[in-house]
Amino acid sequence: MQQLVIVGGGFAGLWAALVAAREAQVADRPLAITLVAPDDALTVRPRLYEPFTPDFRAPFAPLFEPLGIAQTRAHAIGIDAATRRVQAQFADGSKQDLPYDRLVLAAGSRQAPLPVPGAAEHAQDLDTYAAAERFHVHLAAVTAAPATPATSTFVVIGGGFTGIEMACELRRHLRALGATAAARDARVVLVERASVVGPELGVGPRATILEALRDCGVELRLGAQVSRIEADAVTFEDGERLPCATTLITTGLRAHPLTAGFGVALDAQGRLPVDEHLAVIGVPGVYAAGDLAHAQVDDAGRVALMSCQHAVPQGKHAGYNAAHDLLGLEPRVYRQPDYVTCLDLGDYGAVLTSGWERSVTQAGAEVKGLKQTINTRWIYPPQGDCEALLAACDIDAPWPPV
Ligand SMILES: Cc1cc2nc3c(=O)[nH]c(=O)nc-3n(C[C@H](O)[C@H](O)[C@H](O)COP(=O)(O)OP(=O)(O)OC[C@H]3O[C@@H](n4cnc5c(N)ncnc54)[C@H](O)[C@@H]3O)c2cc1C
Repeated sequence: MQQLVIVGGGFAGLWAALVAAREAQVADRPLAITLVAPDDALTVRPRLYEPFTPDFRAPFAPLFEPLGIAQTRAHAIGIDAATRRVQAQFADGSKQDLPYDRLVLAAGSRQAPLPVPGAAEHAQDLDTYAAAERFHVHLAAVTAAPATPATSTFVVIGGGFTGIEMACELRRHLRALGATAAARDARVVLVERASVVGPELGVGPRATILEALRDCGVELRLGAQVSRIEADAVTFEDGERLPCATTLITTGLRAHPLTAGFGVALDAQGRLPVDEHLAVIGVPGVYAAGDLAHAQVDDAGRVALMSCQHAVPQGKHAGYNAAHDLLGLEPRVYRQPDYVTCLDLGDYGAVLTSGWERSVTQAGAEVKGLKQTINTRWIYPPQGDCEALLAACDIDAPWPPV
């Protein structure tokens, strides 16, 4: 039987597997689909700035069993594109070579380490489910300790999408831990090295973000860089030492390092070049989707962002095209010209923008409900029996499923 192997069980990898399984069933042709990932659940990464809940994980089993998708629970540690093999390493250290006829690479991105002394030892991040759980445990310990200037100060490094959401939501984390006094008295400091907040979000939502940060009691330090992180302080480049027991880094996503093994030129974020069918340019038999693919979204040449919004449709197209390639059917061109942003702004609400220039469509409390619907429903995998799943995995089914 032909082998389709998918590396990565995030938004792109999961949807690639689901859509490929549907295409094989509709064509009534045998196709072995194996997803290689270390975890047996999807981590809903866009939610990791929220107060911690096990609901950040959505298990694969209710999807994979009815659709006949296999999982190899392991890390891919190498790909030999010449012999078409993925080298997988299991948790016990043992290894196995997995042959493929077509491969979808969807191992996502990782937060690049911040090159600041003490960052690895003393800072938190929100990159993975485990990191979000560590942050939750850390906040519980800090709020249980006697209140001091250090335990009451929370420094968020990086004034981009995640940093803004986290800074605005921090008091809610403390309230969720029952620490109402700590939530009221917290000093929340958002540090951004650029001269504006949310530099990559553009001017569209900036005034709203600034208003929300003021509303949420977030102290904004622009044009500032941290040069040292300790357990109980951060030091800024100008020499100021700020006592703080919590430093959270939200900067710098890079594509998974597996992209470096193909000998093709990568973009500045380490992403693989793909064609309009999401096939990796210069690497026969390999497709890429999600945070590690440099994919054109429209005819004007705009390129996808590292976002769930792009990872899901790319995963669908990569799975569809890899399966169709094996089944001798026509591929589908990936295009996604529409773009919206919905940014959580804590107790202020949220802001919704549309278009690549990010014009504000709506802001405030009334958008908060939409953000919650996106986070708790729209970006979760489909549910139901085999028939319902097959309908949801039709590449033409509406997504988000409104
Ligand atoms: C805190 C936070 C907030 C965000 N907010 C938003 C938002 O509001 N809107 C939005 O659109 N996007 C948001 N994003 C970005 C979004 O989460 C990513 O763009 C999206 O998860 C990318 O999907 P992906 O499938 O490419 O990668 P991922 O979701 O990162 O999945 C990659 C998968 O590959 C697996 N993997 C890693 N290494 C290996 C290996 N060696 N072998 C096998 N498997 C491997 C991982 O375990 C994971 O399951 C946010 C991200 C974070 C961290």
